[in-house]
Amino acid sequence: IHILVCGVAGCASSGSLKVAAAIEDQIKKNGLGQDVKVIKTGCFGLCAEGPIMMICPEHVMYTKVTPEDVEEIFESHVKGGKIVKRLLAGEKEYEEIRDRLPQIPFFAMQKRIALHNCGIIDPENIDEYIALDGYQALAKVLTEFEPDDVIDEIKKSGLRGRGGGGFPTGRKWESSAVVKEHTKYVICNADEGDPGAFMDRSILEGDPHSVIEAMIINGYAVGANQGYIYVRAEYPVAVQRLGVAIRQAQEYGLLGNNILGKGFNFNLEVRLGAGAFVCGEGSALMTSIEGKRGEPRPKPPRSAEKGLWKKPTVLNNVETYANIPQIILNGADWFSNIGTEKSKGTKVFALGGKINNIGLVEVPMGTTLRQIIYDIGGGIPDGGTFKAAQTGGPSGGCLPAEHLDTPIDYDSLTKLGSMMGSGGLIVMDEHTCMVDLARFFLDFTVDESCGKCPPCRIGTKRMHEILVRITEGKGTLEDLDKLEVLARNIKASALCGLGQSAPNPVLSTLKYFRDEYVAHVVDKK
Ligand code: SF4
Repeated sequence: IHILVCGVAGCASSGSLKVAAAIEDQIKKNGLGQDVKVIKTGCFGLCAEGPIMMICPEHVMYTKVTPEDVEEIFESHVKGGKIVKRLLAGEKEYEEIRDRLPQIPFFAMQKRIALHNCGIIDPENIDEYIALDGYQALAKVLTEFEPDDVIDEIKKSGLRGRGGGGFPTGRKWESSAVVKEHTKYVICNADEGDPGAFMDRSILEGDPHSVIEAMIINGYAVGANQGYIYVRAEYPVAVQRLGVAIRQAQEYGLLGNNILGKGFNFNLEVRLGAGAFVCGEGSALMTSIEGKRGEPRPKPPRSAEKGLWKKPTVLNNVETYANIPQIILNGADWFSNIGTEKSKGTKVFALGGKINNIGLVEVPMGTTLRQIIYDIGGGIPDGGTFKAAQTGGPSGGCLPAEHLDTPIDYDSLTKLGSMMGSGGLIVMDEHTCMVDLARFFLDFTVDESCGKCPPCRIGTKRMHEILVRITEGKGTLEDLDKLEVLARNIKASALCGLGQSAPNPVLSTLKYFRDEYVAHVVDKK
């Protein structure tokens, strides 16, 4: 019997590590050391119901487990084979259908590709990853594919970058592959900095080998022999698990020279970010790896031609990489049949704010906001009313109730003045002041501006001053116009994505909630 306990952030903060310790005690007390094993996994996704425990092989999921519950679970379930119903996730469903994840409403509408191993394997045991077809995609690529074939497969799949830009991944790889250079690099951007976002952290904590495998495949496809994972130092569990996974991959001959005896060499190193949001921007990230102050560089040249140390470099984010082994294993057609015409596959979202099921979800592209918020997210707490959803973090925008039936994909969100971003989804209820919210996000971007270009350094500061005036009841109608003009100018002239997208929360709230701004100003009439 394997007892899986979520051992990371959300559940750990609600006491899962004490639950794991209580399970160890029960194993000892009952002399079950040979038969029962406790495994601290990554995130299951249902953070609001933590601590989560799952008993395998039956896959019975218990929620809100306390150390005091553990003895009962052992007596009744582990030793007696009888489920403890009061602790079940989705108890009603369990009365008819004994178990299985898909029958729990939270999971029923999800499709897990990037997250498919999260919560169900021991992330510190390479054998568990391999047992679930891990490194099979790499073996397939090195045995059956020429580098160009890999790129064609990724292009055919329609995968687009999950870090925010949505650029086609296969084309990105191709533009590096065609450059004739001896030294090239691949980089994984794990500098997840959006407030409320924890998609990448959860993948690294729950399934680090999927990212490592994808990076080796990426290196083979473009002709790179060195990779870097740039991860925030504020993610200690992810950093530690990555370190363990890299060491294990080296021991198994999956990293280093002559991988799997196929003559391909690839090494991987972790680099720690020091918490600057701007270092999530590709060129700033590369400057930071080079040991310099993390500041964006003007483009062109593009990183595919001159990136890290002026060598061709491919940069993808964690979630993009986590899709790669599954695409190779199941085929481009399988992947491209999921999602919408121009946005293929799935997207992971971190649900936060005024929503019942705070947590991590992965849904096919094209799922509507309403389905995510109500069917999966369980709606607004305490019978509250949905007011808006912020997608894309501080770079995104707020969508009001009239757009609840919008299918979530790159293009629909951009059309409405928001963006997919990396996947933060924060829900607001009727008590949220949208002007305060816009000010909150601008506080963040003003703080995080690197100061290199005047539109962002000075422009966002001026916008912030106007917003402070408005929120303090000292603003005028003219201020609203100034805010809008400034926002549009910054978007058009800032050097990097941070500045270009910083005005989005203000512009979208001005567009959809202008009456709230007007209610704050002194000359309403
Ligand atoms: Fe720096 Fe902002 Fe300019 Fe980007 S837009 S380079 S963060 S000042």
